[in-house]
Amino acid sequence: MIDFKDYKNRDISVDYMYVEGSSNPVGWKEKFSQVLKRTLSGELFVGLWIVFREMLKFNIHTIQYPLEKLPISPRYRALHQIKRLMESGNQRCIGCGLCEKICIANCIEIGTKYGSKGRKVVNSYTINLGRCIYCGYCAEVCPELAITHGQDYEHVSEQRAHFTTMAELVTPMDQFRAGKQKEFAGFGSVSPNADENIKKTPLAY
Ligand code: SF4
Ligand code: SF4
Repeated sequence: MIDFKDYKNRDISVDYMYVEGSSNPVGWKEKFSQVLKRTLSGELFVGLWIVFREMLKFNIHTIQYPLEKLPISPRYRALHQIKRLMESGNQRCIGCGLCEKICIANCIEIGTKYGSKGRKVVNSYTINLGRCIYCGYCAEVCPELAITHGQDYEHVSEQRAHFTTMAELVTPMDQFRAGKQKEFAGFGSVSPNADENIKKTPLAY
Protein backbone atom coordinates (compact mmCIF):
# COMPACT_ATOMS: atom_id res chain seq x y z
CA MET A 1 0.00 0.00 0.00
CA ILE A 2 1.32 3.42 -0.92
CA ASP A 3 1.92 5.61 2.08
CA PHE A 4 1.16 9.30 1.95
CA LYS A 5 4.86 9.99 2.48
CA ASP A 6 5.74 7.95 -0.62
CA TYR A 7 3.08 9.75 -2.51
CA LYS A 8 4.57 13.11 -1.60
CA ASN A 9 8.12 12.02 -2.43
CA ARG A 10 7.31 10.34 -5.71
CA ASP A 11 9.39 11.34 -8.72
CA ILE A 12 7.17 11.84 -11.69
CA SER A 13 9.88 13.41 -13.81
CA VAL A 14 11.51 10.17 -14.92
CA ASP A 15 9.43 9.96 -18.09
CA TYR A 16 9.81 13.61 -18.96
CA MET A 17 11.30 14.39 -22.33
CA TYR A 18 13.40 17.50 -22.54
CA VAL A 19 12.83 19.37 -25.76
CA GLU A 20 15.68 21.67 -26.47
CA GLY A 21 14.52 24.95 -27.94
CA SER A 22 16.42 28.01 -28.98
CA SER A 23 16.69 30.75 -26.44
CA ASN A 24 15.17 34.13 -27.14
CA PRO A 25 17.58 36.54 -28.81
CA VAL A 26 18.92 39.31 -26.64
CA GLY A 27 20.08 42.56 -28.18
CA TRP A 28 19.52 43.91 -31.68
CA LYS A 29 22.36 41.97 -33.24
CA GLU A 30 20.97 38.62 -32.17
CA LYS A 31 17.42 39.64 -33.15
CA PHE A 32 18.54 40.82 -36.58
CA SER A 33 20.51 37.68 -37.14
CA GLN A 34 17.51 35.56 -36.22
CA VAL A 35 15.26 37.46 -38.70
CA LEU A 36 17.90 37.08 -41.39
CA LYS A 37 18.33 33.40 -40.67
CA ARG A 38 14.61 32.70 -40.75
CA THR A 39 14.07 34.72 -43.94
CA LEU A 40 16.90 33.12 -45.82
CA SER A 41 15.94 29.67 -44.72
CA GLY A 42 12.70 30.24 -46.63
CA GLU A 43 10.21 29.60 -43.82
CA LEU A 44 8.14 32.58 -44.91
CA PHE A 45 8.02 31.37 -48.50
CA VAL A 46 7.15 27.85 -47.44
CA GLY A 47 4.14 29.24 -45.56
CA LEU A 48 3.14 31.37 -48.53
CA TRP A 49 3.49 28.41 -50.86
CA ILE A 50 1.21 26.25 -48.67
CA VAL A 51 -1.48 28.97 -48.66
CA PHE A 52 -1.15 29.42 -52.43
CA ARG A 53 -1.28 25.66 -53.06
CA GLU A 54 -4.48 25.31 -51.00
CA MET A 55 -5.99 28.29 -52.81
CA LEU A 56 -5.38 26.67 -56.18
CA LYS A 57 -7.34 23.60 -55.11
CA PHE A 58 -10.55 25.71 -54.93
CA ASN A 59 -11.70 23.34 -52.24
CA ILE A 60 -13.47 26.05 -50.29
CA HIS A 61 -14.95 25.15 -46.93
CA THR A 62 -16.53 28.47 -46.11
CA ILE A 63 -19.94 29.69 -47.19
CA GLN A 64 -20.92 33.15 -48.29
CA TYR A 65 -23.44 33.98 -45.58
CA PRO A 66 -26.08 35.43 -45.90
CA LEU A 67 -26.24 34.58 -49.61
CA GLU A 68 -25.53 30.93 -48.82
CA LYS A 69 -26.92 29.13 -45.81
CA LEU A 70 -26.21 25.73 -44.39
CA PRO A 71 -29.17 23.41 -43.90
CA ILE A 72 -30.24 23.24 -40.27
CA SER A 73 -31.59 20.33 -38.32
CA PRO A 74 -35.37 19.85 -38.40
CA ARG A 75 -35.20 19.80 -34.61
CA TYR A 76 -33.56 23.24 -34.48
CA ARG A 77 -35.51 25.55 -32.20
CA ALA A 78 -35.76 28.94 -33.89
CA LEU A 79 -38.53 31.52 -33.87
CA HIS A 80 -41.88 30.25 -32.67
CA GLN A 81 -44.82 29.60 -34.94
CA ILE A 82 -48.46 29.45 -33.95
CA LYS A 83 -50.36 26.92 -36.01
CA ARG A 84 -53.87 26.73 -37.40
CA LEU A 85 -56.22 23.78 -37.56
CA MET A 86 -55.83 22.04 -40.88
CA GLU A 87 -59.54 21.82 -41.54
CA SER A 88 -60.94 25.18 -40.49
CA GLY A 89 -57.94 27.50 -40.39
CA ASN A 90 -58.86 28.54 -36.86
CA GLN A 91 -56.03 28.93 -34.41
CA ARG A 92 -55.25 25.76 -32.52
CA CYS A 93 -54.41 27.49 -29.24
CA ILE A 94 -57.13 26.90 -26.65
CA GLY A 95 -55.59 29.20 -24.06
CA CYS A 96 -54.88 26.40 -21.60
CA GLY A 97 -51.86 28.33 -20.31
CA LEU A 98 -49.52 25.34 -20.06
CA CYS A 99 -46.87 27.01 -22.18
CA GLU A 100 -47.06 30.12 -20.02
CA LYS A 101 -46.64 28.02 -16.88
CA ILE A 102 -43.78 25.86 -18.08
CA CYS A 103 -41.77 28.69 -19.61
CA ILE A 104 -38.59 28.87 -17.55
CA ALA A 105 -37.72 32.33 -18.79
CA ASN A 106 -41.17 33.56 -17.84
CA CYS A 107 -41.56 35.24 -21.21
CA ILE A 108 -44.98 34.05 -22.40
CA GLU A 109 -48.06 35.99 -21.44
CA ILE A 110 -51.53 34.88 -22.42
CA GLY A 111 -54.74 36.79 -21.98
CA THR A 112 -58.06 34.96 -22.19
CA LYS A 113 -61.68 35.95 -21.87
CA TYR A 114 -65.13 34.38 -22.11
CA GLY A 115 -66.28 34.29 -25.71
CA SER A 116 -69.72 33.66 -27.06
CA LYS A 117 -71.34 30.48 -25.68
CA GLY A 118 -69.15 30.86 -22.59
CA ARG A 119 -66.11 29.33 -24.23
CA LYS A 120 -62.61 30.50 -23.41
CA VAL A 121 -61.11 32.70 -26.10
CA VAL A 122 -57.46 33.78 -26.39
CA ASN A 123 -57.39 37.50 -26.87
CA SER A 124 -53.68 38.14 -26.42
CA TYR A 125 -50.55 36.05 -26.66
CA THR A 126 -47.11 37.59 -26.41
CA ILE A 127 -43.64 36.10 -26.25
CA ASN A 128 -40.79 38.30 -25.14
CA LEU A 129 -38.15 37.15 -27.58
CA GLY A 130 -35.51 39.16 -25.75
CA ARG A 131 -35.91 36.82 -22.78
CA CYS A 132 -36.72 33.55 -24.52
CA ILE A 133 -33.91 31.00 -24.35
CA TYR A 134 -35.46 28.77 -27.05
CA CYS A 135 -35.56 25.75 -24.75
CA GLY A 136 -38.55 24.28 -26.58
CA TYR A 137 -40.55 23.48 -23.44
CA CYS A 138 -43.55 25.48 -24.64
CA ALA A 139 -43.69 23.53 -27.88
CA GLU A 140 -43.20 20.28 -26.05
CA VAL A 141 -45.95 20.82 -23.51
CA CYS A 142 -48.61 22.21 -25.85
CA PRO A 143 -51.43 19.62 -26.04
CA GLU A 144 -52.81 21.09 -29.26
CA LEU A 145 -49.55 21.28 -31.28
CA ALA A 146 -50.41 24.96 -31.48
CA ILE A 147 -47.02 26.42 -30.71
CA THR A 148 -43.92 25.03 -32.37
CA HIS A 149 -40.49 26.23 -33.33
CA GLY A 150 -39.80 27.12 -36.91
CA GLN A 151 -36.45 27.41 -38.65
CA ASP A 152 -36.29 31.18 -38.96
CA TYR A 153 -33.25 32.04 -36.87
CA GLU A 154 -32.50 35.47 -38.30
CA HIS A 155 -34.14 37.82 -35.88
CA VAL A 156 -32.18 40.52 -34.16
CA SER A 157 -33.12 43.71 -32.48
CA GLU A 158 -31.39 46.64 -30.90
CA GLN A 159 -34.07 46.63 -28.23
CA ARG A 160 -34.03 44.23 -25.31
CA ALA A 161 -37.72 44.71 -24.80
CA HIS A 162 -38.71 43.07 -28.04
CA PHE A 163 -42.18 41.63 -27.79
CA THR A 164 -43.90 39.60 -30.43
CA THR A 165 -47.61 39.27 -30.59
CA MET A 166 -49.52 36.21 -31.63
CA ALA A 167 -50.57 37.98 -34.84
CA GLU A 168 -46.92 38.02 -35.98
CA LEU A 169 -46.25 34.36 -35.17
CA VAL A 170 -49.41 32.77 -36.43
CA THR A 171 -49.40 31.28 -39.93
CA PRO A 172 -50.72 34.05 -42.23
CA MET A 173 -54.07 33.08 -43.72
CA ASP A 174 -52.90 33.41 -47.34
CA GLN A 175 -49.98 31.06 -46.68
CA PHE A 176 -52.29 28.68 -44.85
CA ARG A 177 -54.69 28.60 -47.79
CA ALA A 178 -51.77 27.95 -50.11
CA GLY A 179 -50.92 24.88 -47.99
CA LYS A 180 -47.67 26.37 -46.73
CA GLN A 181 -48.20 25.64 -43.04
CA LYS A 182 -45.47 23.16 -42.25
CA GLU A 183 -45.75 20.85 -39.30
CA PHE A 184 -42.69 20.78 -37.09
CA ALA A 185 -40.45 17.75 -36.97
CA GLY A 186 -38.93 18.50 -33.58
CA PHE A 187 -40.20 19.23 -30.08
CA GLY A 188 -43.95 18.75 -29.75
CA SER A 189 -44.27 17.41 -33.27
CA VAL A 190 -46.57 14.70 -34.50
CA SER A 191 -45.02 11.30 -35.23
CA PRO A 192 -43.79 10.65 -38.78
CA ASN A 193 -46.70 8.25 -39.46
CA ALA A 194 -49.34 10.53 -37.94
CA ASP A 195 -51.06 11.03 -41.29
CA GLU A 196 -51.85 7.32 -41.44
CA ASN A 197 -53.28 7.31 -37.92
CA ILE A 198 -55.02 10.68 -37.66
CA LYS A 199 -57.50 11.84 -40.24
CA LYS A 200 -58.47 15.03 -38.46
CA THR A 201 -56.62 17.27 -36.01
CA PRO A 202 -58.11 17.27 -32.51
CA LEU A 203 -60.97 19.73 -32.01
CA ALA A 204 -61.61 20.12 -35.70
CA TYR A 205 -64.70 22.26 -35.07
S1 SF4 B 1 -38.76 28.32 -25.83
FE1 SF4 B 1 -38.56 28.10 -23.59
S2 SF4 B 1 -38.03 30.16 -22.89
FE2 SF4 B 1 -38.84 30.39 -24.98
S3 SF4 B 1 -41.01 30.81 -24.75
FE3 SF4 B 1 -40.81 28.58 -24.97
S4 SF4 B 1 -40.66 27.78 -22.86
FE4 SF4 B 1 -40.26 29.99 -22.78
S1 SF4 C 1 -49.93 25.22 -24.37
FE1 SF4 C 1 -50.63 25.38 -26.51
S2 SF4 C 1 -52.87 25.43 -26.37
FE2 SF4 C 1 -52.09 25.86 -24.31
S3 SF4 C 1 -52.00 28.12 -24.23
FE3 SF4 C 1 -49.96 27.41 -24.90
S4 SF4 C 1 -50.06 27.46 -27.15
FE4 SF4 C 1 -52.16 27.57 -26.40
